[in-house]
Amino acid sequence: MYSISKKINIGPQALIAKNFFSNDEIIPAAVTTFTCCDCGHTNTITIRPYESGFPIFQIYSEDKVLSKTELLRNKMVTETSARMIHFGALTVTDLPTLYFGAQCESCHAKYIAVFSYGEKQPGLTVLNISGVWKYEDSE
Ligand SMILES: [Zn+2]
Repeated sequence: MYSISKKINIGPQALIAKNFFSNDEIIPAAVTTFTCCDCGHTNTITIRPYESGFPIFQIYSEDKVLSKTELLRNKMVTETSARMIHFGALTVTDLPTLYFGAQCESCHAKYIAVFSYGEKQPGLTVLNISGVWKYEDSE
């Protein structure tokens, strides 16, 4: 798991085994797999609340990694509704949204995963993985 700081080009979306987790499923971590688009290897991803990921804001701030338009076009995030705007302009299901970079264990193709985590309503904490996309460095 790593952060991304330079411009990237988004490629195809990888297949993920499970993208929605709630309450006990997230403790101590949400665990799922994605299938590499290039080699078909099944990669495990482990997301630990308050530990895994980096704020999605760092991606679209000054279009540093991806522009807001690119994030929206690839359906990685949606525009945050007005009452949840304190979580940032772009989120997944109006909850605090994070991302991380990961490499295929087998062929080392690069991927970006986007997810949100938080209390959807009292007593219901959810973790929603928007998706895992292959990417290439822009330059
Ligand atoms: Zn691979």
